Amino acid sequence: LGGSIARALARMSNATVVDEKVLADCLNEICRALLQADVRFETVRDVKANIKRIVNLDALAAGTNKRRIIQQAVVDEIRRMLDPGKPSFTPSKGKPNLVMFVGLQGSGKTTTCTKYADYHRRKGFNPALVCADTFRAGAFDQLKQNATKAKIPFYGSYTESDPVKIAVEGVDMFRKEKCDLIIVDTSGRHKQEAALFEEMRQVSEATKPDLVIFVMDGSIGQAAFDQAQAFKQSASVGAVIVTKMDGHAKGGGALSAVAATKSPVIFIGTGEHIPDFEVFEVNPFVSRLLGMGDLSGLVNKIHEVIVPNNQQPHIAPQLVEGTFTLRLLYEMFQSLQSMGPLGQVVSMIPGFSAQFIEKGKEKEGQAKIKRYMTMMDSMTDAGELVQHFLLGNHSLDRHCETHLSLTVYLELDGTNPKLMNQSRINRIARGSGRLVEEVVHMLEEYKRIAKMWKKLPLPTNNRRTLNTNR
Ligand code: GDP
Ligand code: MG
Repeated sequence: LGGSIARALARMSNATVVDEKVLADCLNEICRALLQADVRFETVRDVKANIKRIVNLDALAAGTNKRRIIQQAVVDEIRRMLDPGKPSFTPSKGKPNLVMFVGLQGSGKTTTCTKYADYHRRKGFNPALVCADTFRAGAFDQLKQNATKAKIPFYGSYTESDPVKIAVEGVDMFRKEKCDLIIVDTSGRHKQEAALFEEMRQVSEATKPDLVIFVMDGSIGQAAFDQAQAFKQSASVGAVIVTKMDGHAKGGGALSAVAATKSPVIFIGTGEHIPDFEVFEVNPFVSRLLGMGDLSGLVNKIHEVIVPNNQQPHIAPQLVEGTFTLRLLYEMFQSLQSMGPLGQVVSMIPGFSAQFIEKGKEKEGQAKIKRYMTMMDSMTDAGELVQHFLLGNHSLDRHCETHLSLTVYLELDGTNPKLMNQSRINRIARGSGRLVEEVVHMLEEYKRIAKMWKKLPLPTNNRRTLNTNR
């Protein structure tokens, strides 16, 4: 999935004329990716129709970049779908806030309740948890365990079987204790059942929550709309939390949940543990949904940020040839080091995300970049070799004498992958004081990133196909 939209757009940018057929192909590719990301069929159909309407090929001025316009249209469309037009209720301090969690069994309610409580406690709230799940055996124990771990007060019962009664008792008790954020966890069922929704209606009517949060598993797929709608009808859902976004799920079901509940996504769950919880952000979510880091002119933006203007002429020829050289990587590293929080920036760069720097390991990432740069510092570059040639001193690199073209020897600027033979690798390792394996590993990472970049539609100002694209 990852590269499919990228490929479609790249194909499009290579086409001499962007005609109806190319646009249709591109749209089909985008639709397929959205369906694979669990976006509801009806939604995909709407996206397609809307984009077709926006991108009126004939009406576009001759000089406009159609590929960019389509990219932008897709992103805008999805952003629009994620925005229900009104913010959700947010707990405010100094008054009691009551939040009720609903969702099918296994969606992550109990886990997310604790994460939500912990998140707000860090913001200065005084939260408490009420276990109104009397359906699932061990539900109270689970909540108790989580709450104890997070040091959050909790209420529940092993014997009482009426969820409404427990909910009311718990809420009353914590109100008296001046807790300002009372969170009610409810039961679920394996599937949508009338009894479950009736129970949600009753708990909600008895406790009158300020906010009902619908918790959905990010991988539920096409079922998301009906599920969210059913909960919305029994309790007035006002926000959505999507869980298990640490897995393979792209979370396209979130679009359906937003549509069905007319409520925004407020957080995402990214793991089983309490800190694995993030405020929902539209941009990374959309990038992930579309399986690419290059939509919305992202590549252009990256280039503005990463490739300083004064180095553009130097890099441009290589990008035009579609070669992502070690030097380009080096220069990216250089710019990265002078920029803000590493994790954030890095996650935007194709090829760098996730695999290059693990989440929460920005420090290690920084060290890795430093290490890589040290190794690259040990490589020969164009300037160095030219100088040796000018001085008539070819002995720096024996091979130089036997080859006609300079370019194939430049380690940093080289385009020939066979260039990095064992003796060069050994020399680089020696020169930088690193292990041979480390150099090999670095080169592998480089190859992986370069491969990724090869597939990307490049920023138009660096591309020779620019003219054919207009
Ligand atoms: P409930 O039945 O809705 O209360 O769901 P639980 O909170 O019991 O969660 C069901 C399972 O999903 C448990 O094994 C959780 O550890 C797991 N889980 C919940 N949220 C996440 C998440 O964001 N990521 C991952 N990987 N697992 C999660
Ligand atoms: Mg539960």
